[in-house]
Amino acid sequence: MKVAEKREKKTVLEICPLCGSKMEKGFYIVPRQTWWDANEHTWLWFKGTIEKINPFKMTLTNFPGHRCKICKLIVFQYGEADSSAEGSP
Ligand SMILES: [Zn+2]
Repeated sequence: MKVAEKREKKTVLEICPLCGSKMEKGFYIVPRQTWWDANEHTWLWFKGTIEKINPFKMTLTNFPGHRCKICKLIVFQYGEADSSAEGSP
């Protein structure tokens, strides 16, 4: 990735995609495991496509990110970027 592309991505993160305000830099802090799925879940047992975002541990997990206090939106990084996916849509 070129330096100009990196700079552009950083700039995009600092601006709220919903209202255009400058986002606050900080950490999204979670006590234990978190998951991601395209479908909503109610219970903690699941099958299918659910993906663990961070493993269980006794200490807090701090995801670096940005938030918009107006829109109540948080954008956070949950791991290292997959460089093999670079350039994909
Ligand atoms: Zn906003």
